[in-house]
Amino acid sequence: MPKRVESPSSINTFFQCNRKYYYQYIEKLPTKGSIHLVRGNIAHSTLEHFYDLDVSSFTNYEKDFKVAIQKLFLEQWDEYKEELFALQLPQKELAGYFEETLIMLMNWCNFFLKDFKEKFSEGIEETFTKIKPITEAEYSSDTLSVRGFIDAIRSEGEEVHIIDYKTNANSDIKDSIKLQLGIYSLLYQEKHGKTPDKVGVFFLKDKLYLLPVDQPFLQRAKVAISSIHAHTSTCEKKEEYKKNITPLCKWRTGQCDFYGVCKPF
Ligand code: SF4
Repeated sequence: MPKRVESPSSINTFFQCNRKYYYQYIEKLPTKGSIHLVRGNIAHSTLEHFYDLDVSSFTNYEKDFKVAIQKLFLEQWDEYKEELFALQLPQKELAGYFEETLIMLMNWCNFFLKDFKEKFSEGIEETFTKIKPITEAEYSSDTLSVRGFIDAIRSEGEEVHIIDYKTNANSDIKDSIKLQLGIYSLLYQEKHGKTPDKVGVFFLKDKLYLLPVDQPFLQRAKVAISSIHAHTSTCEKKEEYKKNITPLCKWRTGQCDFYGVCKPF
């Protein structure tokens, strides 16, 4: 079978549960939306548009950036209204997520403003242009047969930092996140002929956490990619994708999208 093109999400799903990967990426059964997914998309789109702001009329940058990010967030919330409606959440619960996401973005904006102030030179437009990262960059490798979108690539002096934004409740850099960052590092390395100096996660509720990119870090990502390709290029049948029955099949407030068809218990 030909090599499938994987993404950090598909690879992480494969390692979480082979069968879940089969249902989602091979059988392509529909997945249900979730508020965490939708609000994550809203926060990401807000931050992506933030760096496209026209700041030529800004005079008081602290106030202007804060007003602008709130406006962008409202626009994006509205943009996703159909997805939000489809979740059928009680109004009070939805309002809670709205408020929490706005607080996260304002928290991020405070860090942005601190950085902006420290690097301020010449004027607002010049400084904004100077500190702008590359956002939502698509990276794809035929050799690795992997593609992914990197939230932000930032130059810090001589260093290159790859940043992923997360709306997670906890600032825990889990193995799945390390794997995602390792895959981005490999994709970056292949395209630019050098590894990024650091990778990190900006937990919007908290702050930015950076990790150095060393050989073991890259090696783990390489092994994971090889191992998924080795499996998917030789295994076609559902039975060859083992169920990993854990509390992630069904928890207090939810269940795996494929719980019904999988019947793990
Ligand atoms: S219900 Fe559990 S075992 Fe079945 S696909 Fe989902 S995570 Fe895997």
